[in-house]
Amino acid sequence: MDAEQLRENAHKMVDFIADYYQNIESFPVLSQVQPGYLRKLLPDSAPNQPEQFQDVLNDIQAKILPGVTHWQSPDYFAYFPSNSSTAGFLGEMLSAGLNIVGFSWVTSPAATELEVIVLDWLAKLLKLPEEFLSPGQGGGVIQGTASEAVLVVLLAARDTFLRRHGKNSLAKLVAYASNQAHASLQKACQIGGIHAENCRFLETDSSTNYALSPDILQEAISKDIAAGLIPFFLSATVGTTSSTAVDPLFELGKIAKENKIWFHVDAAYAGSACICPEYRHHIDGVETADSFNMNAHKWFLTNFDCSVLWVKDRSALIQSLSTNPEYLRNKASQGNIVVDYKDWQIPLGRRFRSLKLWMVLRLYGLENLQCYIRSHIEFAKHFEELVSLDQRFEIIVPRTFSLVCFRLLSPHNHDDFCNKLNHDLLDAVNSTGKIFLSHTVLSGKYILRFVVGTPLTEERHVNAAWKVLQDEATKLLGGGSA
Ligand code: PLP
Repeated sequence: MDAEQLRENAHKMVDFIADYYQNIESFPVLSQVQPGYLRKLLPDSAPNQPEQFQDVLNDIQAKILPGVTHWQSPDYFAYFPSNSSTAGFLGEMLSAGLNIVGFSWVTSPAATELEVIVLDWLAKLLKLPEEFLSPGQGGGVIQGTASEAVLVVLLAARDTFLRRHGKNSLAKLVAYASNQAHASLQKACQIGGIHAENCRFLETDSSTNYALSPDILQEAISKDIAAGLIPFFLSATVGTTSSTAVDPLFELGKIAKENKIWFHVDAAYAGSACICPEYRHHIDGVETADSFNMNAHKWFLTNFDCSVLWVKDRSALIQSLSTNPEYLRNKASQGNIVVDYKDWQIPLGRRFRSLKLWMVLRLYGLENLQCYIRSHIEFAKHFEELVSLDQRFEIIVPRTFSLVCFRLLSPHNHDDFCNKLNHDLLDAVNSTGKIFLSHTVLSGKYILRFVVGTPLTEERHVNAAWKVLQDEATKLLGGGSA
């Protein structure tokens, strides 16, 4: 493709995407296709001869879009958001256009240097301790996902402990988190060779709003030490996936420090909110952490993927993940005067992801980013009020950020009935195609999760979503009025 073809087709593609955003509300939010739908619509093999760009676009419209769940729809309230913005999109476009592979400084100095600078900027917006910034021993790195972030720090912690206690002590290493921690930690333990029976997902309950209790952690650690095991890794969550519980960082960090355990903080979703002074207190105690992660691709208007990880001691990561084959050697790396991000991550190759984050920070500015977060939290608060006014429903845990956990109460006062009722309600509302919500289970209760987080969502969408929920509840309950 030459530059003129690129210009012509890219204009068409941008028009296509702009039209998509303009019409996004006309699609069913949750794709309504059945498994295997696409195989019936596409040929069995790739074409021998080039096809026309317009024919591909037509197929996207007719065959691909029906199988898309519209994460950017203003009526999308499921899981956690995965934000997009014009700024993020344009940065992503430029990154695709330049298409560099910036594994070492020399392979594109701007990619490495911009990443270092932008992550220092963001660390300052979050008021992270100085030790996480690049001028000291620490620094930030963009990973693809929070799962990769927790994996690389777990490997760094594991290797630090193996150096300290001997290579044969792997079977004794114990990792800790609450039972509300994201499954990515379990996966990291599996990959890192941590024995399944040494992964402690500690009990939480409604008495702490599902946050990890420092006493329970302390008790588990003491028991493990008495049994000759070696505690090595603690992951706390600020904004758990099920209910946005906030683990008490300060108290947990103190225990981690006393026991010389690597302390990781997973703020994949809620970290973004901490750029607002009134939510910053949720990460008070982060100064006790060894590593901190948030997903800019969740709630920070930065297109997927962009998961930001800061560490206080970058040498621990580098010792675990560095390789130095002849074919990658160069003067800058040998001189030890540059960052080579290949040594901070699992893959070798890496995209120029800092461009989109830089563009988001510059084209919005801190004040607009704060307004954006606040508006979502206000909408969630509004939704929570609507739910509280309808006595057929109950709020399950107090809302902290932009997630509301609630359920429809069953006329048969029994958890099994109630769980089935809410399962049916979720199916019913998602089948309308008008809105999309997801669920979780807390203390055996099947619960609906309503998250405000897409840039296009306005109060009217929240009101309309509530109406869909009420209408479907009325049908399920056999016509009782709200
Ligand atoms: N941690 C938390 C608290 C999450 O909510 C999620 C996903 O929603 C993750 C980690 C995993 O995120 P990723 O898809 O970036 O690996």
